Amino acid sequence: MDAASIEALLPQTQCTRCGYEGCRPYSEAIARGEAGINQCPPGGARTIEALAALLGREPLPLNPANGIEQPERVAFIDEERCIGCARCLPPCPVDAILGASRLMHTVLAGDCNGCELCIPACPVDCITMIPREPASPPPTPRENRARYDAHLARTATRREARAQLLAARKREAG
Ligand code: SF4
Ligand code: SF4
Ligand code: SF4
Repeated sequence: MDAASIEALLPQTQCTRCGYEGCRPYSEAIARGEAGINQCPPGGARTIEALAALLGREPLPLNPANGIEQPERVAFIDEERCIGCARCLPPCPVDAILGASRLMHTVLAGDCNGCELCIPACPVDCITMIPREPASPPPTPRENRARYDAHLARTATRREARAQLLAARKREAG
């Protein structure tokens, strides 16, 4: 089975709970026969059943080593405690945190996919996960993927600009 068909069934939060860098690497590992179909907590039983049907296998329980299924949650920043260090910005795969250096930060709940990747980045532990408001539905896998692709593109552009700047400075100095 091709990895793209497998990836199309994954939630696209890029949370890494499956043990891989993101949904695409996990789908590639399944396609190679190196990963089980039961390692994605955000997808839970529904994703396992869809993968089992696609691959002609028996559904399995979610592997507890990868985590548990949880109700939809979003990140929340305690703005009183936020020191504006901006360390939570780079890990967010969908750029759902607004703020700049030395300014208070806040989460765009509509874009947040609950991946929790921002939490370990915060030096003052002011990010927590809270239940998602019923009136604010979670982003779809397609939205998650589109935002992640945009994030990757922005990151690559910044990296390239930085490399060019460094090269120019070296030329000037040299
Ligand atoms: S959403 Fe599932 S497949 Fe994607 S990174 Fe998270 S655990 Fe892995
Ligand atoms: S704000 Fe935090 S929990 Fe929400 S998508 Fe970004 S990194 Fe993940
Ligand atoms: S990492 Fe924590 S303290 Fe730093 S900007 Fe983000 S929320 Fe604020």
